[in-house]
Amino acid sequence: ILSADNLTKSFGATVALHGASMSLEPGEILAVMGPSGSGKSTLLHCLAGIFAPDSGTVTFDARRLDTMSDRERTRLRRTDFGFVFQFGELVPELTAVDNVALPLLLAGMRRGTAYARARSWFPRLELAGLEDRRTGELSGGQAQRVAVGRALVTGPKVLFADEPTGALDSLTGEKVMDLMVDTVRAEGTAVILVTHDARVASHADRQITVRDGQVIASGVQV
Ligand code: ATP
Ligand code: MG
Repeated sequence: ILSADNLTKSFGATVALHGASMSLEPGEILAVMGPSGSGKSTLLHCLAGIFAPDSGTVTFDARRLDTMSDRERTRLRRTDFGFVFQFGELVPELTAVDNVALPLLLAGMRRGTAYARARSWFPRLELAGLEDRRTGELSGGQAQRVAVGRALVTGPKVLFADEPTGALDSLTGEKVMDLMVDTVRAEGTAVILVTHDARVASHADRQITVRDGQVIASGVQV
């Protein structure tokens, strides 16, 4: 569903990606591992069309992302991609349900429909009763489950998760992972899961390792 072929990307003199290739199957959970600074986040940003690679191609559903217009890319990101980062990047002044409804409103859904759909996600996020709490007043694990809901409420084909449990203790992190995995399995969403943590990566169907800006064979110890 999504693939990268021979990507390069530099920031000034720093070469972040240097011939990185990978592919993701529909519904597959792929863990991306590798040392700090190896280029994992840069790869994720290129795959998501957030950064343009210097060379190489990114293909989503047989469409070249790197040659699309910014407008097309932005639309594709809103409709087909979802994002969860280490720090949920929720809007803390807004309530939990406001945060989950936001991508639906941005996609042009009517307010009533968007809020009804957003609320319907709270039981499965194990957040029933917290819909109207401001997200700045939630625990880390609760906030990250709101972020998962916000990422998946639009029904994306690919979820990009960069250290989604990186800011949580291991028990809370496992709970968020279990919930995220159950939800993407039920929805058939493919996942790019960037993580340092072997236990988090064990939720994936397959693992790849990035080192020095290249994807090296899976299963290689770092
Ligand atoms: P970590 O595990 O620490 O998150 P990473 O594997 O995600 O690391 P990247 O963030 O992709 O690594 O960074 C790869 C290289 O590119 C690093 O040397 C980093 O310093 C550099 N880099 C990444 N983003 C930028 C940027 N916006 N400007 C300049 N250099 C950058
Ligand atoms: Mg990173």
